[in-house]
Amino acid sequence: MSQNPLGVAPSSFVDALSAELESLRDRDLERHLRPVTGRRGAVLQTDRGPLIDFASNDYLGLACDPRLMGDAAIGASRVGTGAAASRLIAGDTAEHEKLDHALAEFFGAEAALSFSSGYSANVGIIPALVGRNDVIFSDELNHASLIDGARLSRATVHVYPHRDAAALARLVESERTKHGRALIVTDGMFSMDGDLAPLGAIIPLVRRHDVWTYVDDAHGVGVNGNHGRGTVEALGFEGQVDITIGTLGKAFGAAGAFVTGSRVLRDFLINRARSFIFSTAPMPAQVAAARGALAVVKNEPELRLRLRENCRYLRIALATHGIHASGDAESHIIPIVIGNAATTVAIGASLVEQGFLVGAVRPPTVAAGTSRLRVTVSAAHTHTQIDQLVNVLAALLEFANERSSR
Ligand SMILES: *Cc1c(COP(=O)(O)O)cnc(C)c1O
Repeated sequence: MSQNPLGVAPSSFVDALSAELESLRDRDLERHLRPVTGRRGAVLQTDRGPLIDFASNDYLGLACDPRLMGDAAIGASRVGTGAAASRLIAGDTAEHEKLDHALAEFFGAEAALSFSSGYSANVGIIPALVGRNDVIFSDELNHASLIDGARLSRATVHVYPHRDAAALARLVESERTKHGRALIVTDGMFSMDGDLAPLGAIIPLVRRHDVWTYVDDAHGVGVNGNHGRGTVEALGFEGQVDITIGTLGKAFGAAGAFVTGSRVLRDFLINRARSFIFSTAPMPAQVAAARGALAVVKNEPELRLRLRENCRYLRIALATHGIHASGDAESHIIPIVIGNAATTVAIGASLVEQGFLVGAVRPPTVAAGTSRLRVTVSAAHTHTQIDQLVNVLAALLEFANERSSR
């Protein structure tokens, strides 16, 4: 970019951005914000009327649980609204320490360290662990924050085809020895298809080749596994993953994120993760809500059972109407691939008109030609709400099919 304060017309800045937005609009890729004015269970109040929410990641229905709202208020009243400094300066309150201890205890880990968000955890932790002389092996469908963390680290990045353990093994065998440290980075449960990392193949591989494992289980923690300890529990590899990340903003209904692992890892990250060091500590209110959510997830396994039963119910209803859902058969993320971005957006808009909010996911979030409806299930949904969604969806998909075959 040329920087000429005298020669550049003031409008060139706005023009450049407008042109880019217009190009997005032309390709049906422009996005808009949709403010929610209230939430009760799975029902959102919006300026377009009430919408039944099949788009959020509030898997256990905790995002507006009155108990956690109370915890947030108590957290704020004890130590204020703002932490007022990073944790290393003066922002480390008793609330933060209690949350870290509760996280370590819940996940059966030696230690845990909380962050402001999953995004900030990944862009801070990955560059703390690996650098210029090191190598990262990364699943091609990893979350954007993992991709950004890998870029920031300056390590060599090898992307392997989605969940392809054989391709990963070949890459590790040919590339590992050219570098110092090596890290396999993967989502635990993938956000767009709800499928799981192939840990059964990854764990033996990392043992043979001295590679570290980094599993970001944002969509799995609180939900997967018999105790809600996530995908690593569900697949039977607890204690064998070096770094596990979870968010507190999805199933836990609060905000923030955390890493679990060894005590040394925690001490190291306090000293080395830049997004931890150079950022104000999370609000005490969010920290207190997150700790309340951990207790609920621990003490109320029936929430997970209700979620699983809702997932089963929705998949059966879809199948009964001849709607193909891809992805993992058990998961609470249910993708319905439409293909074309414009059609996907149109169906999403029609769903809103009929009172349902469903994610219409387009590039760059997913690959071109795989635009999809991403239906997320919550323990807060009723069977009636699920039936209503599927009936409306069946009619819309039939209409779209008729139009495309004419
Ligand atoms: C949602 C998500 C994040 C971001 O977490 P936030 O707490 O919302 O910032 C990170 N990684 C994965 C895999 C996610 O799905």
